[in-house]
Amino acid sequence: MGFFYDVTRLAIWLGALAALFVPLEYFFAERRQPIWRREALNDLVYYFLNGLILSVLLAWPVALLGAAVQHLVPGALLRAAGDLPLWLRVIAALVLGDIGAYWGHRWSHELPFLWRFHSVHHSPTEVDWLTNTRAHPLDLVFTRFCGLVPLYVTGLAQASEAGAALPIIVNTVGIVWSFFVHANVNWRLGWLEQIISTPSFHRWHHTNDAMRDRNYAAILPVLDRVFGSLHLPKTRPAEYGIDGDMPADLPRQLTQAFVRRN
Ligand SMILES: [Zn+2]
Ligand SMILES: [Zn+2]
Repeated sequence: MGFFYDVTRLAIWLGALAALFVPLEYFFAERRQPIWRREALNDLVYYFLNGLILSVLLAWPVALLGAAVQHLVPGALLRAAGDLPLWLRVIAALVLGDIGAYWGHRWSHELPFLWRFHSVHHSPTEVDWLTNTRAHPLDLVFTRFCGLVPLYVTGLAQASEAGAALPIIVNTVGIVWSFFVHANVNWRLGWLEQIISTPSFHRWHHTNDAMRDRNYAAILPVLDRVFGSLHLPKTRPAEYGIDGDMPADLPRQLTQAFVRRN
């Protein structure tokens, strides 16, 4: 029963996202590429696979994190954070969560073992809104976990029911935004691009040239400015993708991450 409910919920979300992004990409295309591109079927499978198993895979690391925080972080701090107004907790959680995810993402590029998992996301040579879903489940678990650590350590997210709502709000905002930043749209948003991540910001993250390994932030480009990884010129990347090979079929994309490639 739960499985069919989850599949239906994901299908409704997918329909809503497609209804939004397919027309946008048709009318405002940054690059000429088919709406139904080569990797689209694989990416749809990733969408449902990750949508179904991510929360299951995240459950025990988050439970361990919550238990560790209860033992290690003073209760007074946890209570003080829990007593902050919701709007302040949401803003603080977005900023701190983005800092954690920034470093999780950056390590996924800089540490070869993690890159084996994360390179699945970077391998397509055509990028659009649906590319957002294309990721190894363990890559997503790692980055999400890194984003959650600061929320639990500071007491912004707590094991109590009221606190549990916050990671869900932060996660939902992050997920919807991450579809947008992958969209193949030619919009340039001026000064706003310095404040919040945009398609032009994230497409440079997918470049396959000397400027790769930039623009790690999910939401706040200022983090890349602070940590020295911002690249936001007026030009566009020549090509997307990775240097190494990536198997074409999804099962081998998942298993290659466990095998060292030289
Ligand atoms: Zn990346
Ligand atoms: Zn991406």
